[in-house]
Formats: sequence, structure tokens, C-alpha cells
Amino acid sequence: MKTEKIISQLLNTIKKLIDGSVIVDIVQQPTNPLLANLPQNSWLQMIEGNQTTLFTGDPKSAISKIFSNKNISSDIQNIIEPILTMSLNNKTWLKYYSTPTVINTYRAQIQPYLLLLLALFTSAFIFLCYRRYHSASIIKFLVENAIKQNHLIPYYQAIVDANKQQICGYEVLIRWETKKGKVIFPDEFIPQCEANGVITPLTFQLINTVAKDIRKLEMLDQGKPLPYYFSINLSASVIQDPKLVEITRNALQHYKVKAHNLAFELTERAPIKDIELASHVCQKLNDMGIQIKLDDVGNGYCDFLALQKLQATTIKIDKIFIDELDCNNKNSIVSSLVAFADKAEVEVVAEGVETTEQAECLLTMGIHYHQGFLYSKPQPFTNILKIYQSKNVI
Ligand code: C2E
Ligand code: CA
Ligand code: CA
Repeated sequence: MKTEKIISQLLNTIKKLIDGSVIVDIVQQPTNPLLANLPQNSWLQMIEGNQTTLFTGDPKSAISKIFSNKNISSDIQNIIEPILTMSLNNKTWLKYYSTPTVINTYRAQIQPYLLLLLALFTSAFIFLCYRRYHSASIIKFLVENAIKQNHLIPYYQAIVDANKQQICGYEVLIRWETKKGKVIFPDEFIPQCEANGVITPLTFQLINTVAKDIRKLEMLDQGKPLPYYFSINLSASVIQDPKLVEITRNALQHYKVKAHNLAFELTERAPIKDIELASHVCQKLNDMGIQIKLDDVGNGYCDFLALQKLQATTIKIDKIFIDELDCNNKNSIVSSLVAFADKAEVEVVAEGVETTEQAECLLTMGIHYHQGFLYSKPQPFTNILKIYQSKNVI
């Protein structure tokens, strides 16, 4: 659409909306079509070099050149107020002016609608805030109830040493089992628990349940300590909670479980705000003999400093990198992480291993601790217990 046609349409629209006056500044634009379409009580202002010319669209005076001098804009601006300035292109401006009387009438007309709109926005805002608060508090209430009723239960997924073809540990993965037997996965409630703080009591209860389960397994073999670790996921807020040390120590003592049977993995999803406090807590856990692992490495902020501060002995490579494993690419992310782990002298666990090709590829890269559906899916404790009872080997 041509510029002058756009301007004409705009002029007419504005004219319909507000009974004001319109001025158009034109620089080097053909003006005849504009002059032909100029609405009533409008002015067309042409600026060419130093020369400013004003035309009116009032049909009584037809299209007439009313006067022409350099100061015309300021003369007009003394009696009318600019309320809209819009660039149509880099040389043409549409300026809309109106007299104060017209503006006041217009304001009085639209004021009730504006108030109504404001009231609607405020109610919608209050409703959304309330709904958000309400659903967050409902989830909090449900999780707190689930904790009380022991509906949040640990599943265990084996971590194997693929060289020795032996299980070396388990990752503890929480599940919410409802009264009706439905299983809810952690991604559906852990983020909310992290946001509302329930993650702390949830984790503390889990530590006790896991210690109890370890003891049950040991009791099948006259209480002999198990040669495996059980690795519990810790959210950032929990590792910054000094009570974690006391809760863990009490659980180990109460169930007579050795510290090497327990490990913690810290996810890199949420950054740890107080790294000094987290470092202090990790130091105490480490002194007790509990290993710290860094989870989902490659996705977050893992570096030497984080490893050092958190006393981590293992890094876990996220499934997304295992999915894209390319054995021939020496510059892949997994290769870089292996080199990094070598330098930092930490062990590497590959997560989400699903195929024998991936397992073989990982072994050629020097990664022999594997976790994934190829070996085992997360299972409830009753399954682990059955396997152990039948084979006396987990
Ligand atoms: P994560 O720590 O990275 O745990 C590994 C996830 O990958 C688990 O999902 C596991 O079931 C899944 N997985 C393992 N091997 C395979 C595989 O070969 N293929 C596929 N497709 N998936 C595999 P899950 O159990 O749904 O847990 C999701 C996340 O929830 C966990 O990711 C962890 O960040 C979080 N989470 C689980 N339990 C807890 C907990 O007790 N506390 C906290 N803070 N977070 C937890
Ligand atoms: Ca994990
Ligand atoms: Ca992970």
C-alpha cells in the first residue's frame, strides 16, 4: 500500500475515533492524493527544506493553502496538544494534535470504560495470584500428607561396573505411590517440592527409609555390610541445610549402616546459592565417609572449583550426551568430560545407557560405570529384596 493511502486511511480512522485535528508532516512525499482525502478540521503540514506549508481539509474552504511560513508548527502547538506521533517511514511522520477541550471531552467519555478495564485487570490479577498460591499450597499439603502416610517411596536403579559385569551401587529414585496404586514420577512433583521447601522433610525421610532398606538387606546375610552404595539425590537447598549432617548420622546409627553404603548426588539443575555453606556440609559428610557425586554433569556449571568445594569423587554424565554418543569423535562432549575427570581424578558414571553399542562405546572411551535400562530399570525395594533372597547376590 502506498504511503499516502495509508496516511489517508489513518486520518479517517483517527477522525472517526476522536473529533480532533490532524497534522501530517510530509517530507518529499507526493501530496495530491492526501489533499484530496483530507478530513474536516484537519491540517496537512508539508515540510520541504526550510519551507513549511499548512493546508486545511475543511470542505467549506475547499482545499486551501492557508498560510506558509517557517514558524507554523510552533504557532499551532500553542493552541493544541500533541497526543500521537507515529513514524510511517524514515521521511514521513504522522502527527495528531487536538485541542484541550476535545481531549477533556474524550477523557470524560472513556473514563468509565477505563475504570471498568482497570477493575477487570485487577480482579484477573488477584484471581491468578490466588490460584497460584492455592495450587502451590495444595501440592504442599498433598506432599506433606504423602510423607506422613509413607506414600513417597524409594525405587532403586542399579549402577554396574561393565568391566566386571557387577553391580557397584544403586541410585535412589523417588516415586509417589497413590492410594489407588498409581505411580507418580519425580519430575511431576520434585520441582514443586523444591519451590515450596517440602523437599527438605521429604529428603530427610528418604534418608531414613533407605538406611532401613539397607539394613533389611544386610540382615538377610547376618548383618554383614553390603559392598554397594545407595546414592540419594539432593536438591541444592538440602545440601545447604546443616541439619542434613545430623539427620544422616542419626539414620546411619539407628539402622547400624556403614557410611560407605550411602552416597549423595547433587544435581546441577539449580545453582547452589551459598557454596561455602554447601562446602562446609559436604566436608562434614565426607569426614563421616559419605561420598558426594555431581549429577547431570555437562548440563550445568561443573568445574574444578565446584568439584573441590563439594568434595565430589564422581561425576555423572547426563543421558542426553549418552544418547548422542559418537565413538569416532574425539572432540565430543563425553570425551572432554572424560579428560576433565582424568585431570580432576574423579570417577565417571554414564547415565541412560540403553544399548549394547553405547555400552561398548563407553568402554572404549574408558567409562566403565554404567547406569541405564540396558542393565536395569528403577525397581521397588520388594523386587530388590526378592532378587537378593533368591540369589543371595544383588
Ligand atoms: P536423575 O537424577 O538424572 O535420574 C536419572 C533419571 O533417568 C531417572 O528418572 C531414571 O529413571 C532415568 N533413567 C535411568 N536410566 C535410563 C535409561 O536408560 N533410559 C531412560 N529413558 N531413562 C533412564 P526419574 O526416576 O524419573 O527421575 C527424574 C529426576 O527426578 C532425577 O533425574 C532426579 O533429578 C529427580 N529425582 C528423583 N528422585 C529424587 C529425590 O529423591 N530427590 C530429588 N531432589 N530429586 C529426585
Ligand atoms: Ca541423579
Ligand atoms: Ca542425572
